Amino acid sequence: MLKVIPVLCRAGYMDNYAYIIIDSNTQISAIIDPSEALPIIKKCDELNIKPQFILNTHHHFDHVEGNIELAEKYNAKIVCNQSDMYRINGAQIALIPETTFNVGDSIAEIIDVSAHTQGHILFYFKKDKILFTGDTLFNLCIGGLFEGTPEQMFLALNKIKSLPNDVIFYPGHEYTMGCAKQAFIYNNGNSDIQSYLAKAQERIKQGLPVAPITLGEEKLCNPYLKASNLKEFKNL
Ligand code: FE
Ligand code: ZN
Repeated sequence: MLKVIPVLCRAGYMDNYAYIIIDSNTQISAIIDPSEALPIIKKCDELNIKPQFILNTHHHFDHVEGNIELAEKYNAKIVCNQSDMYRINGAQIALIPETTFNVGDSIAEIIDVSAHTQGHILFYFKKDKILFTGDTLFNLCIGGLFEGTPEQMFLALNKIKSLPNDVIFYPGHEYTMGCAKQAFIYNNGNSDIQSYLAKAQERIKQGLPVAPITLGEEKLCNPYLKASNLKEFKNL
């Protein structure tokens, strides 16, 4: 089983989520997208763990800036898409999309979703029904197109849409309330978006990520996932 511990970084201005993941069989752990080192070190101390890997979804500074400090502190290996090796400092393990990477006994499928950046990847722990979406899918919206085209993003989102509804996804930022208005209007304030927002607000109030929201719920409410063709998608 895979345990996920969210760590809010750059709180209040960028609201990044880094995630500590622990494989419960082996107690082997990893950090996903360490935006900064300090809050993650604090949490690792609390949990008394020394992560062995640092996994990056993409090369943007707000997802990798904690890499080197954490890698040195824990003697952890930095892991990223092979195509990002040249632009992520200290990267040691190259991932090939459509293959897998193990954190202990937990297996992540590596899914290429080039659009927000070229070479952006998702980590999909299929057996655990857990997906890390970086800056591709957020709650109720998606990441901007820094290096890709709307066509590529539409393709990337279709890959996510093809995953089962009971998968829980963990995004790279807490942007839910900022995205809520557009989603509310898009959905004409229907009961799906109402119950989504009620759930989200409750979580945020507790200082928690909206994350237990599933892909199924997201597919019902996120305008970018609901767009059924490229033209409709481009008009959002
Ligand atoms: Fe980004
Ligand atoms: Zn980001």
